[in-house]
Amino acid sequence: MIAELESGERSVCVASGMAAITTVLAHFDAGSHVICTHDCYGGTARLLSLYQQQGKLEVSFLDLANADAVADAVRPNTRCLWIETPSNPLLAVVDIRPLVAIARRHNVLVCVDNTLLSPFHFQPIQFGADVVVHSTTKWLAGHSDVIGGAVIAKTQDLGTRFYSLANALGTTSGSFDSWLVLRGIKTLPVRMQQHEENARRVVNVLEQHTNVQSVYYPGLSSHASHNVATQILSGFGGVISFRVRGGATAVNHVLGATQIFSLAESLGGVESLIEHPATMSHASMTEEQRRNCGITNDLIRISVGIEYCDDLIADLEQALDFSAIKNIEKNEAVAILGGAQ
Ligand code: PLP
Repeated sequence: MIAELESGERSVCVASGMAAITTVLAHFDAGSHVICTHDCYGGTARLLSLYQQQGKLEVSFLDLANADAVADAVRPNTRCLWIETPSNPLLAVVDIRPLVAIARRHNVLVCVDNTLLSPFHFQPIQFGADVVVHSTTKWLAGHSDVIGGAVIAKTQDLGTRFYSLANALGTTSGSFDSWLVLRGIKTLPVRMQQHEENARRVVNVLEQHTNVQSVYYPGLSSHASHNVATQILSGFGGVISFRVRGGATAVNHVLGATQIFSLAESLGGVESLIEHPATMSHASMTEEQRRNCGITNDLIRISVGIEYCDDLIADLEQALDFSAIKNIEKNEAVAILGGAQ
């Protein structure tokens, strides 16, 4: 079913999104060079950095919006271009078409992590990708009650290769987990439509809020990659990031004050979640990596669920009301203390 949704020939379901990424990376010989988007999911950066330290892979983390830089970075041993779009957490949408053209010229496999939007809004294989991975934990299963992943291949041959790699590595999915993902997919379209409708209303409120400095959502015409997004996506999903004014006290207040948005790292479930990328989902990146891709301490990410939207807006508005708080700083955020590592 997932292969069909992604316009691929074959898919293998695995135990998690990280299991999907592990399975794909196992395809490459030792010493291969991987070019990866610099603002990828923290776990992807952690695994690639580990393989690099161990001498298994060479890795270049690059801003993939700069196609010329990508072309310049290709080496004789480059085997994989790892794209995550929209990026997490700043939701930059990369135009994969020029990247696919570069990869074709050099016989490089194009792998796209499509977790952030699901095939409902984006089908990378239709734009020339060879491989798609998912954390089905997110939109595909949609209820935050299962951890799963999938690798989808454009061709049967590649699909057979991943199937046998998943078997060899033991990354395969349990049958009950697979059933939960299948059940979730049955409501994918209705969920995705409601997530997006709610997200658009939440974005409007955040944009106008005096305690919010900036909002990141590909559906916003002010978003840096809005034009590309409208060309290659059919919708913009339910993840929004925003910067809060008022420093660490303000950020910590928002994270602790929401009552409907639960503080948790995941995304894509029917329930709304809020998290702090710098100390949670992206804590495994080095500080320099985080700085390079704009993950500063004032950044908060939310995954907008399908609850009654007026309640979601009221929840965020009360969390963003700093009138009773002392020590709110006027300008920049400072280091956040505590938080999950
Ligand atoms: N890829 C992306 C884009 C993610 O956001 C995540 C998790 O947040 C993963 C992969 C890893 O998925 P899992 O938690 O199922 O291992």
